[in-house]
Amino acid sequence: MDIQIIKEENNFLSFIIKDVTSSYINTLRRIMNVEVPIMAIDEINFIVNDSALYDEIIAHRLGLIPLKTDLQSYELKEKCTCNGVGCAKCQLTLTLKTKGPCTVYASDLKSQDPKVIPVYPKIPITKLSEGQSIELEATAKLGLGKEHVKFSPGLIYYQAYPEIKLKDVSNPEKIKEVCPTHVFEVENNKLTVKNLLNCDLCMACVEATQDDSIQVKGSKTDYIFYIESFGQLTPKEIMTTAINVFDDKLDELTKKMKEGEESKISKITDKIKIKKKVKAE
Ligand code: SF4
Ligand SMILES: [Zn+2]
Repeated sequence: MDIQIIKEENNFLSFIIKDVTSSYINTLRRIMNVEVPIMAIDEINFIVNDSALYDEIIAHRLGLIPLKTDLQSYELKEKCTCNGVGCAKCQLTLTLKTKGPCTVYASDLKSQDPKVIPVYPKIPITKLSEGQSIELEATAKLGLGKEHVKFSPGLIYYQAYPEIKLKDVSNPEKIKEVCPTHVFEVENNKLTVKNLLNCDLCMACVEATQDDSIQVKGSKTDYIFYIESFGQLTPKEIMTTAINVFDDKLDELTKKMKEGEESKISKITDKIKIKKKVKAE
C-alpha cells in the first residue's frame, strides 16, 4: 500500500492510496463516517425559553453544533467505568443563560471543559426580543455516527484514480471546452492532460469524441480519498482513529473465531492487518 498526500489544508485532507481493494477502501470510509467517536450535545434541560422557537427546535439546533472533541480525555458512555450512568470521563455540561434583545450564538454556550467548545462560535441558535430570555443546561457526550448524524466527523468520500489515454484526438479545442473540470490543455493543436486529478470520470469527453480516440476509466486498485472534517477532529485524527477502530474490530473478530472455529479466519484477518498499516503522517 502506498499513500501520497495531495492536499492538506485546515479541515481538508486528500490523498492517493494505491494497491488496495474496493472493499478495503470502502470499509475505511464507512468506519470514518460512523465509528469515529464525536462529542455532541445529547440532552437538554430547559429552565426558561421565551424565544419564538419551541424547545424541540432549539434542542435540535444545539445537537447539530460541532463541538471540539478531545478523544484523550473522554470515553464512550457504553465503555465507561460508570457503566453508562454518566460521569466526568464520559460527559460534560454546557450552560446557556442570555437576555434579549439579542441573537443567541453558539459562543454563548459556557462549557465546563475549555477544550470542548463550539467549533464555529457564530452559529446562530435563536433571537430574543426585549424582555425575553433563555436559560438551559445541556449535556454533551461522545457518540457514533451510526447512532445519529450529529456524531458524524465530516464528509468522507473517494473515487477511483482516473486513467486517461489519448490517441489523435481530432477536435482538441472542443474536448478541452467539454470537460467541466478543466483536465485538458491544447498545445500545438494537440490535446494533452494537464490536471489529471481533476477528472471525476464524468465521461463527457468520451461521449463528445464519438470514436475511441479518448479512453477514460477508473483504476481498480488506486483511489483518491477525501476527508472534509466538520471541525470536531482534524482529518488526521479521523484517519488514525478509524484505523485503530479497524484494528480493534479485526482483533475482536479473530478472538470470536478462535472461540468458535479456530485458526482459518485469524490467518485471513492477520493478512488484512498487514495490508492496512497506514500512517497518516
Ligand atoms: S471524464 Fe469528464 S472530468 Fe474526466 S477528463 Fe473527461 S470530461 Fe473531464
Ligand atoms: Zn462515565
